[in-house]
Order: sequence, then structure tokens, then C-alpha cells
Amino acid sequence: MAEIPPKIKVGAFTVAFLADGLWRNDGGCMFGVVPRELWKSNHPPDERNRIRLNLTCPLIMKGSDAILVDTGIGNRLSDVERKIFDHGDGWLPQHLSALGMEAGDITHLIVSHLHFDHCGGIVRRRESGALEAAFPRARIFAQRGELDIADNPRNERLRAAYRHAEEVLAPVRSMLEALDGDTDVVAGVRAVVTGGHTRDHQAALVTDGGECFMHLADIVPTRSHIRGPWNQAYDLDALRTMEQKAHYLGLAAENRWWLSFAHDDTVFAAMVKNDRGRIVLADTIPVSERLFQFS
Ligand SMILES: [Zn+2]
Repeated sequence: MAEIPPKIKVGAFTVAFLADGLWRNDGGCMFGVVPRELWKSNHPPDERNRIRLNLTCPLIMKGSDAILVDTGIGNRLSDVERKIFDHGDGWLPQHLSALGMEAGDITHLIVSHLHFDHCGGIVRRRESGALEAAFPRARIFAQRGELDIADNPRNERLRAAYRHAEEVLAPVRSMLEALDGDTDVVAGVRAVVTGGHTRDHQAALVTDGGECFMHLADIVPTRSHIRGPWNQAYDLDALRTMEQKAHYLGLAAENRWWLSFAHDDTVFAAMVKNDRGRIVLADTIPVSERLFQFS
């Protein structure tokens, strides 16, 4: 069994930092206009220019509610794709069972957006090859605009970005609930539209008793993306990403929120502080390598 995932308390909520494992993706795609010379020391590229990334999926728990944010890549990739992204199988179920839970315990699923590294794990491929809902009891929340674009991508770039969507969504259509803007999924857990990365990208915000936690998903995918101009080449509206992250990072620094990032391979979550006008990391919850080893 994998190590027990780290947890924080946010008022009466417990948030556990699960991951669907480590993977690799092109460093240039992850840092957009930022030259390789600037990112290569903190994110060392391999011989194929890929950097190591995580697939962080916070699990927000209170009473019988278990709200998972994003699902990682899952096990639906072909052998060729698995090699390209260097992704192994089965980490999210391992981390759930390390918490004494199983897929059927997840009651709600907030999907930040429908790129394959966030929604792929909505389904699981059985040995027969058939895909089924990975979290059979979960209500699944995505923005209506994101679902519309995934169903009707209107150009080549969107078609490529959502090419997996039909396969992933087909087995869970009856479980999907389309959101129109910011919505409380349960009291204290809110889906908040940021846009930027995709037009309808949403983050998850937990507030209780004056404490706050936010999963910024692909608005701040790694600790390095805290810097304004450091944005992914995938962002459809990088200027909106910059505005949104400046807004939430500022609130987080002022009010001591916990923040988590979708893809940082060393830091699950952090508090940030304002250091002479620059946002920098303060306390951090590191990613333990032992989370990705079977014992
Ligand atoms: Zn992503």
C-alpha cells in the first residue's frame, strides 16, 4: 500500500492531497513564453525535453461528504500514450485505500476542466477493455461552457485538446451536472470559475470558520507559475490567467489560505506571503516520493 497522503484541516473540513501519480510533459508547453534557461534548474528536462509533473487531486471531507477535485489521467491511455507521458496506473485508487476509502465513497467530483490530465480518471478501463464510471456514486460537476466546447470543439486546436472527451464522458453522462458559473457544491465548498487556461476553467474553494483552502488547478499548475508571466502555452487567455492568479494569490497571502497546484512534483500545497511586492512560498506540504512506491 502507498504511504498515507498528507492532510490539512480547514475549519471542520479535512483536505487530503491525493495524486494520480507522476508523469512527464514537454517543458516548453508548461512554461509558454518563459525560456528554457529560466525553468530548467527547478524543472530539469529529460533528453526529450519533458519535465516531471504531478497529478494532484485534493479530497475534501466532512461527515459523509467526500468531494474529489479532478481525477488525473486514469488508466485509459493506450500503451503508446502511456510511454509519451511516462504515466503509471492506479495511484489514485492506491491513495484512496491508504485513507481507508474506496471509489464508491466519493460523493462529489469537481472537474476543473476537461483536458485529459484532469478528467481522464473519471472512467476506468476494465480488463475487458470497456470503460466504466470510476466513482460510481459521485455527482460530477463541470461548467456547462466547458462541456459545450468539449462536445463541439469548433477548430483544430480545440479538437486536439478535447479529442478524448467523448470517450471519457460517454459512460458518465447521467452522472454529470452542468454548472452555470460559481456554484456551492456543498455548503462551504464552491466551484469558482477562473477562465484563463480554458474559457470556463474552474477552481475549488473551501471556506469554514474563517479558514480557507483553494485548489487553483491549471491557473497555477506548479510552484513556479506563482510568477505573473509564467503561464502554460496551453492557456487560451494567458492575460486572464495572470489576472485571476494575481487576485487569488493576493487574497491567499493576506488571509493565510492554503493553496494547491495541479502539477507540482515537489509541493502539493502551500501558504504564500508577500515579500516586498512579490508573492513567494511560505509553509509548504511537500510531495513525498514514498507516495509513489508500493510497499
Ligand atoms: Zn493540467
